[in-house]
Amino acid sequence: MSRNRIADAVERATDPAAAAHLAAILERLRHDGGRVTATRRLVIDAMLGSHDHHLTAADVVEAVRRDEPDFHPSTVYRTLDRLTELGVVDRIQIGPGPAVYHLSHRPHRHLVCDGCGAVREAPPDVLDAVATRLATETGFALNPGATPLHGLCEACTI
Ligand SMILES: [Zn+2]
Ligand SMILES: [Zn+2]
Repeated sequence: MSRNRIADAVERATDPAAAAHLAAILERLRHDGGRVTATRRLVIDAMLGSHDHHLTAADVVEAVRRDEPDFHPSTVYRTLDRLTELGVVDRIQIGPGPAVYHLSHRPHRHLVCDGCGAVREAPPDVLDAVATRLATETGFALNPGATPLHGLCEACTI
């Protein structure tokens, strides 16, 4: 894969909001001591450009290979692991299936529909009162980011 093709893939960077998000993520990556390699950029860009913000590792591979068919899945898996270590990507176990990954630049909590499996995003502070109460009453330190809320989405309650 040539450098130019990588640059093209990155510069295709969709809309201005996505471009701003990409810049923020790369800045965070640099700040955390990570190098911005072409591979990392491709993976981040593929995740940003994806309609679904919660992707399994296989989904990320598919998204990357839409632009770069030669990309080896193991490279994508390794890159995802490294981006997770660097805090740019979060790995979350939402349902019984494989873990999903999201970019960590936009904090949110997860609403999981037990009817259709859809994952919706909720405001980041939605569990704050619960966390505070648990800490006060039981000493338990809730990790809200790792606590998906289960129920039925609007479409499934009809
Ligand atoms: Zn998420
Ligand atoms: Zn549903």
